[in-house]
Amino acid sequence: HDASASLVSLTAVTRKKIGVLTSGGDSSGMNAAVRAVARIALQRGCVPFAIHEGYEGLVEGGALIRRLGWDDVRGYLSLGGTVIGTARSARFRTREGRLLAAFNMIKNGIDALVVCGGDGSLTGADLLRSEWTGLVDELIETGRLVTSECQHLRTNLTIVGLVGSIDNDMSSTDITIGAYTSLHRICESLDSLTSTAMSHQRAFVVEVMGRHCGWLALMAAISVGADWVFLPERPPPLDSAKYGANWEDEMCERLSQNRKLGSRITLVIICEGAIDQNLNPIKPDYVKSVLDSRLGFDTRVTNLGHVQRGGAPCAYDRYLATVQGVEAVEAVLRSTPETPAPMIGMSQHRITAGPLMDAVKLTHEVAEAISKKDFKKAMDLRDPDFTRAYDAYIESHLIGDNHLPESRRLRIGIIHTGAPAGGMNTATRIAARLCLNRGHTPLAIKNGFSGLCRGEISALSWHQVIGWQTKGGSELGTNRDHPLPVPGTYAANLDISDAYATSFIDCGRIAFFLQKYDIEALMIIGGFEAYTSLITLDAARSIYPAFCIPMINLPATVSNNVPGTDFSLGSDTALNTIVECTDRIKQSATSSQKRVFIIEVQGGNCGYLAVLGGLASGATTAYIPEEGISLDMLQRDVKHLNARYERELTHSARNEGRVIIRAEAACSTYTTNVISDIFRHEGKGLFDSRTAVLGHLQQGGVPSPLDRVRATRLSVECIDWIERSFLEAQAARSKDENSSKDGVFYSNLRSYTNKSTHACVIGIQGAEVLFTPVQVLLDETDMNKRRGTKAWWMGLTRLIKVLSKYHYEDPVE
Ligand code: ATP
Repeated sequence: HDASASLVSLTAVTRKKIGVLTSGGDSSGMNAAVRAVARIALQRGCVPFAIHEGYEGLVEGGALIRRLGWDDVRGYLSLGGTVIGTARSARFRTREGRLLAAFNMIKNGIDALVVCGGDGSLTGADLLRSEWTGLVDELIETGRLVTSECQHLRTNLTIVGLVGSIDNDMSSTDITIGAYTSLHRICESLDSLTSTAMSHQRAFVVEVMGRHCGWLALMAAISVGADWVFLPERPPPLDSAKYGANWEDEMCERLSQNRKLGSRITLVIICEGAIDQNLNPIKPDYVKSVLDSRLGFDTRVTNLGHVQRGGAPCAYDRYLATVQGVEAVEAVLRSTPETPAPMIGMSQHRITAGPLMDAVKLTHEVAEAISKKDFKKAMDLRDPDFTRAYDAYIESHLIGDNHLPESRRLRIGIIHTGAPAGGMNTATRIAARLCLNRGHTPLAIKNGFSGLCRGEISALSWHQVIGWQTKGGSELGTNRDHPLPVPGTYAANLDISDAYATSFIDCGRIAFFLQKYDIEALMIIGGFEAYTSLITLDAARSIYPAFCIPMINLPATVSNNVPGTDFSLGSDTALNTIVECTDRIKQSATSSQKRVFIIEVQGGNCGYLAVLGGLASGATTAYIPEEGISLDMLQRDVKHLNARYERELTHSARNEGRVIIRAEAACSTYTTNVISDIFRHEGKGLFDSRTAVLGHLQQGGVPSPLDRVRATRLSVECIDWIERSFLEAQAARSKDENSSKDGVFYSNLRSYTNKSTHACVIGIQGAEVLFTPVQVLLDETDMNKRRGTKAWWMGLTRLIKVLSKYHYEDPVE
């Protein structure tokens, strides 16, 4: 991974004094960023300073600028808001204020500034940098500083920007620190509102934050299945040709239609900056009055307010802020006077560092486009995911009349297999809705492949899937029953028939039922079992033509071990459970003093949950199956723990509770209990050890917003892929028929295809969604270990240790 790769050499470079500040509105994850900046700066031989209260601290100086030691940022990962404080500083907007800021920085020897905030904060930072030489000269000329004090600082100030903003409104980055936590808070509140609304058949109108950016509103609408959403970038109505500027008519028509279809509630989400086509703000009270008077709904307005900002950061924000904080220090060390100040962003799931002012400029262009009513441009300036998400929302929430021609409508089977994972139901709901909107027939196959072979198949209706987006587990029912590889096919030579499957099912029976119910395409939602099931069916195509249809696996497993994708559905939900549990356990460990917890997490033979869980919860280290556990490792870790606790004892420092994450299959000899026993014994009273096995807690619960958003996006892509594959299959077929080849068995399936490109795994790789044939993925699969051979997150294992002071000693003053 980028961030950790740059840590390969931890030698001190130029000793920089790096100030870090948080500015503008607070966002969850800012603390994790400060922690990472401080600790990596120390590791790299630099001196970190916390500048309290944002730019106000820089202007004020004195006690508001303080050196940061390793332990000062202890416990920061799990805290919401910003511990070092933030403020909106009017003084910093003036040149006199910035002169004071320069003075205070030079007095402290600070020559680099990492600013975590929104576009305003980053603009301020850039301004300070551009004025820097002039400011220093003025300080010398006016006698406030003597030349010797600041000669080396005179020419250049290093600035690096981190984007901390709940709105996710910054251009040139896919996501900002705090946006997903905010989405968590919003979804928690909306999920609660939904249950009371259900009980009373009420309508709720809810405003969510976002001055110029509808990201939070849109993602919330997708995640909770809102009936209508108002965004600044897409003023209503949807259908201007029919409704003109009269969006109230369109909204009322759509909402009453949803009620007629069986929905007991109506949920309308309004982005804070929502406007109509004439730029007039759309406000909750007005929408309520429309619903009350025109539809007679019992309507309530809820303002979530500042609840949206706060709370413990979600797993993703901890990860994002940490890897970006690491990169910020690296960017400081890389910077030269010639290079423009960088902003650390995230693109295609990789960390980026582009010119900060370019990003700010682009961000302002969105607001400008909106003010000029150029809504298309505003939408285009957002990243393409935003537009795709919007389209997916519209198609899956509003009944349309865009049925495909009869000849292109398909009967699409949807099946869950393997262990349950958060997001399976969301994906099924979206697939069903899309199918219905396009004229396909979505067929729910209940209880996996064994259910299929009992004929447990029925068509899904629009209202049947209401509420599924927030449901954990599997509404269709799932199990580990697995198709039995057919002898003589390539699947029979693979290591599929292992102990994981509860029973094997004859492929002939599966083929019979697919044929009986005339299933023309198959969507298999599940983890590694789903993947190997698809392999088995693909391999058996030469025997059973019923499998010669477009078949796709949508990876859904907490383990995130399916090849062909960086993330599977459910892995984020599980990660959040791990992080929440670990926070609690760590608190207990700290309170009990001198205690180390060995926390066992799931993941099969894949260490993803352990590594990401370890990074996001501030673990000391993570044991994973990919690396195994050796006696040497344990000895090293015992030594490390001894050194840490001994130091705390001699410095009379507060004892830190420590956690070590162990993946369940990391090693069969050094089990969780064995490790705990060894540690307790070797701790010799200096520290104690306990275990916690999180078990199936990790598979349950309400799916996280990120999993719901991913499920929505991937499910839409699956249906699009099935439609494309069908057309390709038909084209190929007519070509073959024209050439009247003998011996080709077509059956009477309209969607007949035996191409390997029509048996794929859908995956998120970077920001892209890719479809990889299972036959191609075989090369990237360790069948025996049930995981892919490529793991983008492996480099992060080292970062966990780096951030827990593993290879680091405090410098001698
Ligand atoms: P949010 O998105 O949460 O509002 P933000 O960083 O955009 O975050 P602002 O209030 O715009 O929030 O900016 C924070 C601080 O940055 C301001 O109080 C001010 O001190 C400084 N700042 C903003 N814009 C400028 C500017 N053009 N020149 C100098 N300083 C600025």
